[in-house]
Amino acid sequence: MVTLEKIACLALGSSLDSLGAPLKAASCETSSETGREICHDNLSRLAALGMGTKYDVCASPHSSAIPGVCHSFTPDGRCISLFKTLYTNSCSHQCNYCINASGCRCKPEAFSYTPEELARLSLSLYKSNYVEGLFLSSAAGRDEDVIMEKMIEVVQLLRGKYQFKGYIHLKILPGASKGHIEEAMALSDRVSVNLEASSPSRMGEMSPSKDYSQDILQRQRYIRDLSRKIDLPAGQTTQLVVGGSDESDEEIFRRVVYEYEEMEVRRAYYSAFNPLKGTPFETRARQPLWREHRLYQIDWLYRVYHFKPEDICLAFDEGGFLFNSDPKIAIARGTLDGPLDLNSAGYRDLIKVPGIGPRSARRILKLRKSKKIGKKDLHCMGVRLRKASPFLIINSQRDATLDMWSL
Ligand code: SF4
Repeated sequence: MVTLEKIACLALGSSLDSLGAPLKAASCETSSETGREICHDNLSRLAALGMGTKYDVCASPHSSAIPGVCHSFTPDGRCISLFKTLYTNSCSHQCNYCINASGCRCKPEAFSYTPEELARLSLSLYKSNYVEGLFLSSAAGRDEDVIMEKMIEVVQLLRGKYQFKGYIHLKILPGASKGHIEEAMALSDRVSVNLEASSPSRMGEMSPSKDYSQDILQRQRYIRDLSRKIDLPAGQTTQLVVGGSDESDEEIFRRVVYEYEEMEVRRAYYSAFNPLKGTPFETRARQPLWREHRLYQIDWLYRVYHFKPEDICLAFDEGGFLFNSDPKIAIARGTLDGPLDLNSAGYRDLIKVPGIGPRSARRILKLRKSKKIGKKDLHCMGVRLRKASPFLIINSQRDATLDMWSL
């Protein structure tokens, strides 16, 4: 299993031209006597820059315990491991929830790579079969244009000098120029801009130094428009902090629908707010992981089941929040007039039944052509009967022991 120590040793063994220039001078020297120290410094940097990506989500749920490695999915659905790191953790922005923000009382020591060493380290990890690609994000440094340029240089080195064929997900920094975005897209499989908040006013509460319309939405539009001429196999994605301000789940969902429809994002990712010591938001309540999980569920119902947004909105309470229960149950209660006849209901109604998904609904329709379906057939198809049967009439019989509306 890949560990931080192994990554650090690879960093050491990859014959770096330079051991990098941490923004705050670290004691890296190249003599063999200081090898242990170098390894220690590399380890600190890998840990700091790996941990710094904790809230850059590229898969759901958070999929690796090792700072520096995450899992993601390729366009063909393959799960791959990625070396996930910040280029630098130094930042001039003032996001009130972030430990790397300018002005944070407990800022970690600032680290950075050089493009050459990060390219070589990524290549070493790839060639050693520890990872199948790179997810490169970054804080903004003193000037985000400069950092964006460095990140692109990493990818240029990988694709050009080192003929790297692995997967690359490159984060686009807020306010990046159109030219930089075009270069990044030409070299990457996927790019993403962090939306973070559901609206300009929520962004104002969370990250007052960012301009929601210009720094974020305009950059997403550039990516959408450039995608017409540049092949970006895994498309653009985005992510939101859940509960960073007092926004409701409905606000988040409506913004995400806009992102899918207007910005043509391939996926939205959610990251439950977690207060960090030393940040202006340190006393705010930690958000339960189930909130993130329920948002992923309605996202799935929208993207994969193609439920209408107005039907999904039936899962919200009066304040616009989701309950900690399967949102499909509330949607079924709100949209079905009563239990469905398993042997005559249409596809669009069948997939509303809790426990029945698009695949099992298609199987039901297919099998119905040759026979009447019973509970045993549903069981064989993998339908979760306990959830589904209160919403169904099966061979003229309703499951009278369960109340369909009180599940
Ligand atoms: S832009 Fe905001 S969230 Fe990102 S590193 Fe800087 S302060 Fe943190």
